[in-house]
Amino acid sequence: MGVADLHVHTAFSWDANSAVEEVLARAASIGLDVVAITDHNTIDGALAARRIAERLDNGVDVIVGEELDTQNGHLIGLFLTDPVPPRLTFAETIHRIHEQGGLAIVPHPGGPLPWHATPRRITGNCHHLDGLEAASTSWFANVGRKGALHRNRHIYKLALTGGSDAHCLAAVGQCVTLFPGHTADDLRTALAQCRTSARGEPLPFVKGLYALGVRAKEAVGKGRFTETPYYESLTTWARNGVESAPNTEG
Ligand SMILES: [Zn+2]
Ligand SMILES: [Zn+2]
Repeated sequence: MGVADLHVHTAFSWDANSAVEEVLARAASIGLDVVAITDHNTIDGALAARRIAERLDNGVDVIVGEELDTQNGHLIGLFLTDPVPPRLTFAETIHRIHEQGGLAIVPHPGGPLPWHATPRRITGNCHHLDGLEAASTSWFANVGRKGALHRNRHIYKLALTGGSDAHCLAAVGQCVTLFPGHTADDLRTALAQCRTSARGEPLPFVKGLYALGVRAKEAVGKGRFTETPYYESLTTWARNGVESAPNTEG
């Protein structure tokens, strides 16, 4: 089984503070096979990360991603080659992601915040989407999780992903996607076949403040969220897993 964190912000995001090099080092040290860099409305950090990862060759594959502001909530593009412009409609953003061969994943589905895509929006676009984030460290994301999983079983039938939505280094790897294989290509295949699963739990509310867009350093200070990993290893948190429904259409 491969382990991937598919939702990580770096200092290229306005509200995050981890250097790209630090993210890659932490990913390697905790045993991630794949990390998707998904900064807000830019792929510059992700492109830099991929260049550095290729040079380091430390066993971590980087997926170039972007978390886009759409007119109807955040949407993540994975496997991108070019930036997708922000503030398009949800449907147009999915189209632009697919146009360049990328995959469209809904982060924090059905959560209560204004930048969380609504259940109605997701339902209306579910035949075009490629995945649904079912594990996130964000306390707010967790509010929408149960309903989103219920709708996924009955309506969306999307591959499930887990991503930390890390805005600081300590959160990287706290929520992950498990998949057969080890490489980014293996992960892509697993997503297409609905053979992924989501692992990890939300962080306590105060520690999760950074996910609100509070500047990470301030949130870290308030939450006494030191750079010590909240979980000791990749085994202790591997609870609360959610399996994707196997896609029989293959
Ligand atoms: Zn978001
Ligand atoms: Zn995010």
